[in-house]
Amino acid sequence: MQLDLPTLLFVSFLAAISAAIGFTSLMLVLRGQAALRIWVASLWVSTIGITLISLRGQIPDVLSIVLANSLIALAGALMVRGLALHLARPFRWRVPLAIVLLYASGIAWFAYVVPDLRTRIVLASVQAVVWDVWCVVLLLGFAPREIRLSARILALVMAADALLFTVRPFVPLSPGAAGSIFRAGAPVTLTYVAGIVISLAAYFALLLMITERLMVDLRRAASVDALTGLLNRGAMLAEGRRALAASAVQGRPCAILALDLDRFKQINDRWGHEGGDAVLVHASAVLREVVAWPGHAVGRYGGEEFLLTLPGAGLREASELAERLRAALAGSSVLLNGHRLRVTTSIGVAVGEGGASTFEQLVSSADRALYRAKSDGRNCVRQQLPEGMPLP
Ligand code: GH3
Ligand code: MG
Ligand code: MG
Repeated sequence: MQLDLPTLLFVSFLAAISAAIGFTSLMLVLRGQAALRIWVASLWVSTIGITLISLRGQIPDVLSIVLANSLIALAGALMVRGLALHLARPFRWRVPLAIVLLYASGIAWFAYVVPDLRTRIVLASVQAVVWDVWCVVLLLGFAPREIRLSARILALVMAADALLFTVRPFVPLSPGAAGSIFRAGAPVTLTYVAGIVISLAAYFALLLMITERLMVDLRRAASVDALTGLLNRGAMLAEGRRALAASAVQGRPCAILALDLDRFKQINDRWGHEGGDAVLVHASAVLREVVAWPGHAVGRYGGEEFLLTLPGAGLREASELAERLRAALAGSSVLLNGHRLRVTTSIGVAVGEGGASTFEQLVSSADRALYRAKSDGRNCVRQQLPEGMPLP
């Protein structure tokens, strides 16, 4: 087998342009992903860079050495930029652009002023390691838990790339290289083979990142109520069952609160659906703000009904929290077109202990307590009645 550098560069070019075309198609299908757009730009920029390098000897050196290397550095910076966006990290172009410009000047210097292939290889390796390490730090340090797996896989690939480029300056150059990378010899050629393998792995790892994020987004969209951002009914039921079962295993109680906004129909009648919706959003914000119980979950159970689970809470703690919630909502208001809208809520509290009841039974106990709160005049908290006690 004969693996010469021009052939390998052509393979790199094929891999890069395939990836660029593939990711561009993915971008057209997925549309919304901003990080993907940046990565697509990075892939095209590096494809152009690799193309220019491959044309060494057929086009002026300023294009095949200086511009080509600058583009590859720019592609590295774009890769980091996309990653920062994907991980919702701040990013400022100043430092990366300075690195690209510094690198471009270095390459030009050691191509024309003091021609030196060895130093150019060192510079190229340093800039590659900079982007790789930057990516690894972002991936390992700042990836949210739900996309940690794909982040770790990409970090592993980037670390392998950093290792490759750390070793590359020490790879012996063939004595006959005479300033051209094309005659640098078999060991240098081998680093190009490793580079192609790592690039392919990086493309797949990027795909994994995009896929995992998509799965997280879809799962979230399927479990979140679009108006309030709270869990929707299905997700709340699933979460409630899980919390109740986990509490039973730990031998702890699990409290639930059922809330129903008072005379909500009147708000709709007076202020229209827009007013009703504003009040729903406001009530959800109060729920989110006031409840700080560890491991709690809040969901919109139906129109103006909400459900809360408080794992580990007994009747007293849950009732205290319910009272605080009730008071917070009663004492607050929401502004709509210059008018202050107020709403109160009735709350029913029920507690499941030792796995004696299913979550659905617990919800009906809380519902019955809620019903009593309504008939006792609304804007109050009522607890479940002890087992077997007849309704008053
Ligand atoms: P009560 O104090 O007895 O609970 O009285 P209520 O008026 O709150 O009770 P009722 O269940 O009769 O009315 C609830 C209203 O909530 C009826 C429905 O039009 C309204 N509703 C349900 N979902 C939504 C929604 O998403 N947005 C708006 N604006 N209104 C909603
Ligand atoms: Mg209702
Ligand atoms: Mg109501």
